[in-house]
Amino acid sequence: GYSRLVLATGADPRRLRLEGDGAADVLSINDLDDYARFRLALTRCRSVAILGAGLIGCEFANDLAAAGYAVHLIDPAQTPLNRLLPEQIGEIFARALGNGGIRFHPGRSVNRIDRSSDSYRLSFSEGEPIDADLVVSAIGLAPRTSLAAAA
Ligand SMILES: Cc1cc2nc3c(=O)[nH]c(=O)nc-3n(C[C@H](O)[C@H](O)[C@H](O)COP(=O)(O)OP(=O)(O)OC[C@H]3O[C@@H](n4cnc5c(N)ncnc54)[C@H](O)[C@@H]3O)c2cc1C
Repeated sequence: GYSRLVLATGADPRRLRLEGDGAADVLSINDLDDYARFRLALTRCRSVAILGAGLIGCEFANDLAAAGYAVHLIDPAQTPLNRLLPEQIGEIFARALGNGGIRFHPGRSVNRIDRSSDSYRLSFSEGEPIDADLVVSAIGLAPRTSLAAAA
């Protein structure tokens, strides 16, 4: 029995609805098993596309670029960390990412991922596609509400 109940069951990664035979291969990193899969995948690749330039996406981009990977950071917003930083600071931050070797692609949202030999091709509603050996999604989490809904 209890008088108050706190549900703190965590959250699951949000998944983009994507077309293409590479869509199911997109990795999210939200627990240790995810991280083990990610580390294994990194041993086989040189370039990484990250969907989402929030805290997690930017942190992974920075770490991966520092480790020598070619990094594409993709976000529909015009600046990284757009929900946390005002635009002017976001622009400075975007330049800092660029100085660190990260290719930031603002104003873009992928809608299709296809396998292409050893890598993936990310396609958008307009503009040039981007090729990468690994695609990581960091577009946020959805709270696990099923227990609360069922209660
Ligand atoms: C790569 C990465 C880096 C991060 N870096 C930072 C950082 O630098 N700083 C920071 O502050 N945060 C960071 N975070 C976020 C931080 O990990 C989360 O905000 C935090 O773990 C959320 O805590 P939580 O207790 O809500 O959920 P969780 O830590 O996910 O815990 C939920 C728990 O509930 C359990 N559970 C699920 N269903 C049930 C059920 N039916 N009954 C009972 N238990 C259940 C789960 O097994 C789990 O143990 C990071 C996250 C990631 C993925």
